[in-house]
Amino acid sequence: MRLTFSMIYVAMIVLLSVFVVIAHRTNKRNTVSNSVAWLDAALIPPILGNLIVLISSSPVLSAIGFYTYFLGMDVVMLAMLNFTVKYCKTKNSHHCVPIAVYIALGADTLQMLLNPIFHHAFTLEEIVVEGRSYYRFIAYWGQTIHRVVDYSILLGIMAIFLLMSIKMPRVYREKYAIILVSMVVVGIWQSFYIFSRTPIDRSMIGLGVFGILIFYFAIFYRPLRLLDNLLAKMASDMPQALFFFDPNKKCIWANDPGKTLLDIREGFFDLAPQKLREIFGELEFDKENWVKHKVIGSGENVKHYILDMRSVSSDKNTRSGSFLSIRDNTSEQLLLEREKYNATHDTLTGLYNREMLFRSIHKKLKEDRDTVYYIVFVDVKNFKIVNDIFSNSFGDFTLKHIANWIRADMSPRCVYGRMGGDKFGVLIPKEEFEPDSIERSLSNYVVTDGNIEHGLFIHLGVYEVTKTDTDVSVMFDRAHLALSTIKDDYKTHIAYYDDELREKAKWNQHISTQLQHAISQKQVVPYLQPIVDDSGKVVGAEALARWNHPDRGFLSPASFIPYFEKNGLIVEVDKHMWRSACEILSRWEQIDKEMFISVNISPKDFYFMDVKEEIHNLVEEYGIEPKRLRIEITETVMMNDIDERIKILNELRSEGFIVEMDDFGSGYSSLNLLKDMPVDVLKIDMKFLGRSQDSGKAQTILRNIISLSDDLGISSLTEGVETKDQYHMLADMKCKMFQGYYFAKPMPVDQFETFIHKQAQ
Ligand code: C2E
Ligand code: CA
Ligand code: CA
Repeated sequence: MRLTFSMIYVAMIVLLSVFVVIAHRTNKRNTVSNSVAWLDAALIPPILGNLIVLISSSPVLSAIGFYTYFLGMDVVMLAMLNFTVKYCKTKNSHHCVPIAVYIALGADTLQMLLNPIFHHAFTLEEIVVEGRSYYRFIAYWGQTIHRVVDYSILLGIMAIFLLMSIKMPRVYREKYAIILVSMVVVGIWQSFYIFSRTPIDRSMIGLGVFGILIFYFAIFYRPLRLLDNLLAKMASDMPQALFFFDPNKKCIWANDPGKTLLDIREGFFDLAPQKLREIFGELEFDKENWVKHKVIGSGENVKHYILDMRSVSSDKNTRSGSFLSIRDNTSEQLLLEREKYNATHDTLTGLYNREMLFRSIHKKLKEDRDTVYYIVFVDVKNFKIVNDIFSNSFGDFTLKHIANWIRADMSPRCVYGRMGGDKFGVLIPKEEFEPDSIERSLSNYVVTDGNIEHGLFIHLGVYEVTKTDTDVSVMFDRAHLALSTIKDDYKTHIAYYDDELREKAKWNQHISTQLQHAISQKQVVPYLQPIVDDSGKVVGAEALARWNHPDRGFLSPASFIPYFEKNGLIVEVDKHMWRSACEILSRWEQIDKEMFISVNISPKDFYFMDVKEEIHNLVEEYGIEPKRLRIEITETVMMNDIDERIKILNELRSEGFIVEMDDFGSGYSSLNLLKDMPVDVLKIDMKFLGRSQDSGKAQTILRNIISLSDDLGISSLTEGVETKDQYHMLADMKCKMFQGYYFAKPMPVDQFETFIHKQAQ
């Protein structure tokens, strides 16, 4: 018997030691486990003390065993208190041990330690158990104090657990009750053996079991009911509808949103599958784990649902049921659709935006290879005027008008969109394209919002898709190229991309690659056209570019300048022309110090270089007075970054350069713009009068422009003067300078020099 119990105690000590280590290691995750480690460690000395008593046959050893036991129990109480505080700690309450308890424990320990002197707590009595001496203790009042102290603490702790089991919300009760029950069971066991005074004290088994139970319940055990309750609460509080099915696909439970969705009452869950089918159509109840997106209703009442069916298995093979969750994601879906719409559509017109248009055309051409399609580039001539002269809102109105005009004639086989600004793009089957009716409707295209009425010139460039895998942007480039051939044509509205244009495009590419070489080889040279004053004297010249092409002969600027203006290479031509002009001027330094040369500046120059810096450096390099290099800009220069451009021009003027506004009258030449333009000379384009039927009116306009510019302190120069009559008329109108074929055509520099030389004689 003694041996059996010894073995049990040894096993308990080993087990408790292992728990101490485990509890200590889990400490990082759980603060309670640290107190469990201490408690299990504290339980070892009393058990060890009992073990010593059990195996010893000597009074001294037995005495050591009893002291270890009794003193150890005080430590156990301390550890129990610590554990109770940690275990019962909640967010709102934090218990602490009254100081009197520590004093009582301390006093008890002290009186126990004094027992060897006063023998007031216990003495030993020898008896024989299983043929060997065994020392049991005889208790005196000191031992009674010891028991009162320890039992009071134990009862106090049990009271706390009892209180917690009652006070805490139902779902948490189990957590405390389970510890309380283990304490009660162990307490009864313990007391029974302590007070029964059987020769061998078995109470320690209870203590060891207590250590094991605490370790398990505090660290590893998660109360099942608590979990159940939490899960159930979570499921019923979820915003989505939930339906639980048993393995036979019978609906056994639904949460409130589920009941509302199907309009069923508690206890009528059987109806769920039928109702679900009525709303969502046939559902695959037999299949497990699927997710479906269902759309119910349409228009404003549309609803989007995500249905998610999951099977629940208790282990790998047996299925314990399944659940279906239904989430209403209408608002997310609408937001997503809105975002998608915004990303693919133009906000003003509601048409596809450029990216979407290109993507859709690409897709359509890929899918339908049997149809011959046209790519149509739609452009409004001088749309900027609409915004400038009227208002941005009328501009927007106009764009919507055009969008609706395009939309109206489109079949489902067409793809169309706004490419940006006043440019639209269409893909249309060749057989659906009706040029006659389009020409008719464009011949008098008037937009009116009730107050304003404005006629528009809309041009269409058409490219027949021959190879469907060509880049869509290249197709539109070709359509645009066709369009650009009729840009200044007020009668034709549709132009087709053809072989001639293709050749031209090739040629443009060809000359682009040759330009640098041509400049370095002096193939590109300035021609000078004289500018005369009102007495007929040549006062300066305009430098105009000519290309002496080795294969194609003499090229006029019209055959290369517009293309270079588009692709930016104009910058190279202009830099070369400005330098050439400076070279000539520095050579003239000896001949005529007053003679000036006007050079052209393209709007693109402002994008690709620091125009001011470039020109400033040139005159400095050649030592020329700035006023001798005149600068011609067109009003298109002022179309963008107007403030920045005004600043540059003003800086140039303050350095002494003379700025001329070229081609006044050929564009839309707002007089308003003139007020803000920092220019010294107005170059009036004679061509703009040519078209007019009423020459009387035209002359009035001309006279007024000249006198207006005079009033503004701007000098006037008329270009394109071809006849003597024109010259005299303009001179009568007080125009200051003249340029035109009547005086001379542009000519090579040496010819020009001879020309003025002759004049001087
Ligand atoms: P622009 O600046 O308006 O130049 C005047 C154009 O009118 C020149 O054509 C000139 O030959 C032409 N012209 C002169 N007098 C008369 C006339 O009495 N009647 C008619 N019908 N035409 C006359 P050109 O040299 O063919 O130049 C055409 C355009 O090319 C120029 O128009 C200018 O915009 C551009 N350009 C020429 N050279 C350069 C250059 O070096 N740089 C830049 N950026 N553009 C240039
Ligand atoms: Ca010019
Ligand atoms: Ca001009």
